[in-house]
Amino acid sequence: MKLLVTGGAGYVGGVCASVLLERGHEVVVIDDLSTGNRDAVPAGATFVEGDVARLAGEVLDPTFDGVMHFAARSLVGESVARPGEYWQGNVTSSLAMLDAMRAAGVDNLVFSSTAATYGEPEQVPITEDMPARPTNTYGATKLAIDHAISSYAVAHGVAATSLRYFNVAGAYGSAGENREVETHLIPLVLQVALGHRDHIKVFGDDWPTPDGTCVRDYIHVADLADAHVLALESNRPGVHRILNLGSGEGFSVREVIDVCREVTGHPIPDVVAPRRPGDPAVLVASSEKAMRELGWRPSRPDLRTVVRDAWAFTSALGDRAHSAPR
Ligand code: UDP
Repeated sequence: MKLLVTGGAGYVGGVCASVLLERGHEVVVIDDLSTGNRDAVPAGATFVEGDVARLAGEVLDPTFDGVMHFAARSLVGESVARPGEYWQGNVTSSLAMLDAMRAAGVDNLVFSSTAATYGEPEQVPITEDMPARPTNTYGATKLAIDHAISSYAVAHGVAATSLRYFNVAGAYGSAGENREVETHLIPLVLQVALGHRDHIKVFGDDWPTPDGTCVRDYIHVADLADAHVLALESNRPGVHRILNLGSGEGFSVREVIDVCREVTGHPIPDVVAPRRPGDPAVLVASSEKAMRELGWRPSRPDLRTVVRDAWAFTSALGDRAHSAPR
């Protein structure tokens, strides 16, 4: 298949583009490099630098078979502080993508959605039929796009799957997390182990959870990429599926830090800090629907494997890490 991957210079988009190439597909990446790295675009993909809203219509043509749409702003805290950038950036570019697909007659879409669409869940594990009440702007923009995709599926026959990721981590080959501005727990903890930070801040230890710190469901990026390919291959015209992707097991912030200590052999000092606005206490996925619909099985469900792969990537980066002292 010939596929457009937006945001293919980002972490998840880059890994998915690599996996698509390995499976013999042709890949064109659009990315404005606002948060992505040129190095994350796999060799073998055609790279077009620029804004998706502007370029989608120019790049897409009837020779394409489908789109994986990752390009988005994706930081919870930033989305609460600067909502305009998220509504403009995420929603506008996704609508432009849907219209460009329509104009080119390309009707197969996999969309990078998020567990943040659910907000504070009434119960865990979270299933797709639970109410979507996002507690931050990031989740709200992704939910709005999910609604837009449903409308386009009904009206125009788009074949689509929104994959609602829980916490993606780990690395695949030479692709991993190396953002200029890092906010995610595992890469930040590993930067402490690397000696690029003094300590990790624990955002609140007074949450209603067993050890008082937030609980999340960490999924290996390679397992996530597998689900994207399966979704693309099984999309049906006029149907918009929404599928959760997680490992199904929750780990607290303290448990994650402990696994990182074990894997890296570094003491990793931690300091309790105030809660981060917009964070729900517990997010754990039920991925049963994805397993049923896609025949997907995570092959790296163990948090130690996730952290080991992330550490292999981060420690190999050394001074090329964005966090490296300069
Ligand atoms: N977290 C933390 N310290 C940090 C970064 C994150 O305690 O420096 C917590 C955060 O509050 C959340 C969990 O770790 O409960 C995972 O956060 P992350 O930003 O990795 O992913 P999110 O759950 O926001 O998608």
